[in-house]
Amino acid sequence: MIKSFLDENFLLQSEVAEYLYHEHARKLPIIDYHCHLNPKEIAEDKVYDNLAQIWLNGDHYKWRAMRTNGIAEKFCTGDAADFEKFEKWAETVPYTLRNPLYHWTHLELQRYFGIHKILNSATAKEIYDEASAKIASKEYSVRNLMLKMKVEVVCTTDDPIDNLEYHIKVRKDGFMVKVLPTWRPDASMAVENAVSYNEYLDKLSVVSGIKIDKFNNLLEALHNRHDFFAAQGCKISDHGLETLYAECYTLSEIESIFKKVRSGKTLDKLEILKFKSAMCYEFGIMDHEKGWVQQWHIGALRNNNSRLFKKLGPDKGFDSIGDFEIGRSLSKFLDRLDKNNKLTKTILYNLNPGNNELLATMAGNFQDGSFPGKIQMGPGWWFLDQKDGIERQMNSLSTLGLLSRFTGMVTDSRSFLSYPRHEYFRRILCNLLGNDVMNGEIPYDKVLLGKMVEDISYYNARNYFQF
Ligand SMILES: [Zn+2]
Repeated sequence: MIKSFLDENFLLQSEVAEYLYHEHARKLPIIDYHCHLNPKEIAEDKVYDNLAQIWLNGDHYKWRAMRTNGIAEKFCTGDAADFEKFEKWAETVPYTLRNPLYHWTHLELQRYFGIHKILNSATAKEIYDEASAKIASKEYSVRNLMLKMKVEVVCTTDDPIDNLEYHIKVRKDGFMVKVLPTWRPDASMAVENAVSYNEYLDKLSVVSGIKIDKFNNLLEALHNRHDFFAAQGCKISDHGLETLYAECYTLSEIESIFKKVRSGKTLDKLEILKFKSAMCYEFGIMDHEKGWVQQWHIGALRNNNSRLFKKLGPDKGFDSIGDFEIGRSLSKFLDRLDKNNKLTKTILYNLNPGNNELLATMAGNFQDGSFPGKIQMGPGWWFLDQKDGIERQMNSLSTLGLLSRFTGMVTDSRSFLSYPRHEYFRRILCNLLGNDVMNGEIPYDKVLLGKMVEDISYYNARNYFQF
């Protein structure tokens, strides 16, 4: 029998999966512990003008698909009118079959707007009009979108020099969703460009009130901002790297490397590596002191298209999966912190699916019985945030670790319309367990499985982060 497209039992292939999803997963709120939402828009409770603005401005997944479909840049990141861009997207959607964009697009139309039509050139105008009329109303302000999706907590991604004014405003407003900052200090170790690095340090110096001319001052200034972030409710850090940096170094080496770059001179490769190694370790220590969770996103090969990078800048859809060696340095980094009793709760995300097993086993090395799932293998991220990637991540984690202790899904999104990705993830989880039951590989213990689904969908994250 042919199932109908994206009905209430979407992705649920057995009655066990249907039971687990509808009775246990569906009702739970969302803890979105890593995303890139703009806190300013939450503070202002922005109302978007139309569907194109909220859907297409800033979504590099869609731009990539449109370019691949032969659509000119003008309609992706360019200056075409909103509806023109939307028409080009609608024209592309039928060509996205089997890409997660096809599922996300129609899930979002259903869940937010109650639109059950299929988007294509023929339906573009009516869907645009219907959804835009809704999105332009106060009922669809970004705060109301979050409430509609039962979001309980979101963690944005913020630089140490950010004054967090928007987070503060949201909290003062008494908004029911906790909007918390995340400490993302990548720029504070970006020494490969001496000019921009010094500009950054000057800003850091101003916001911290600490003169930065020695490595110790840099750490002091960062501590100062770390304390400030903590006072604003921050409980997690996040770092985006090709691979962990864990080169041996001495403090006097780091002092002289810092002086060199601070005086505007360019560092060589080994100096950069040593400096970043020192910074990664110091970040780990700072997070441990506060009992924060550290997150490491590893393995993106960014800005591959230099021509379009020059024209459009970063995060416009020209990044891919890298093949960096990640095992040895990750091991060394975690071991050094653990050895010194400074290893805090940690989430490791890999972008290369070939590293799934590596990461799942690496996490196991540093579990110490102090907290269930202390070292997490993070959910399928970016290119892996789709049915196959999510299943493969959970299969690796199940086989080589404890799926039951998994803290579950994040959107990692820039869009307020991305929350159905949690639903998508929960359906896939329930389906995996349902198939195992149907095959007689695990018992049909409704209490055990129901609890497991609820834990991974919500309660594990709640207990792990203690927001
Ligand atoms: Zn992210």
